[in-house]
Amino acid sequence: MEDLGFENYVVSLKSSDPNDVIDINKRFAEMFPFIPLHLGVTEAGMLPMGEIKTRVAFENLLALGIGETVRASLTLPFENKYEEVLVARKIVEDVKAGKFRSVPRFIQEGLNIISCPSCSRVENTAFIDLAEKVRDMSIFAKQANLTIAVMGCRVNGPGESDDADIGVWCAPNHVNLKVRGQLRGAFGYEVIVGEVERELKTLMSKQTEAAA
Ligand code: SF4
Repeated sequence: MEDLGFENYVVSLKSSDPNDVIDINKRFAEMFPFIPLHLGVTEAGMLPMGEIKTRVAFENLLALGIGETVRASLTLPFENKYEEVLVARKIVEDVKAGKFRSVPRFIQEGLNIISCPSCSRVENTAFIDLAEKVRDMSIFAKQANLTIAVMGCRVNGPGESDDADIGVWCAPNHVNLKVRGQLRGAFGYEVIVGEVERELKTLMSKQTEAAA
């Protein structure tokens, strides 16, 4: 950047895994201590887990003096998007006041649901509703060591769900589904949750068989 004449910038190194966010930002801060960093756990998902993931990353970094700006990336209904700011502010205030638990790593216990915060690219306003329905449907699987990704658009959805066991991403009139990188097809909004449930049960059966 500086070789190209850009000197007034901020760097953002994000992941949906809070531990990766901690590691990469610590490494960057050691290498480039004078370059400002913008912190965020991308696709942290819905509350309360989205806040917990964000909090673990921010606490560990801000307490070391790493991070000049922050964003909480939460999946919230449009009318509640302001809560991202409230959550981020609360975490920063708590760290400033020394009111935080020193949890060095985020420990994922059971089912991991990542979902994007949505933006102007989201292709159907049913996206937030879909994310919540997937969360509610999958309660039966909360002990499963699996990841479901729910994304809002076709631009970033396919790539951002690559690391998930089950990935869905929205199009205007249908939802795309893939399982461990294999495209399963496109399904209507009214049936996609049932399809995710079916795939989830199949993956859980495979895990049980493998463990037997
Ligand atoms: S996945 Fe698409 S809709 Fe969601 S935040 Fe990323 S670009 Fe926006």
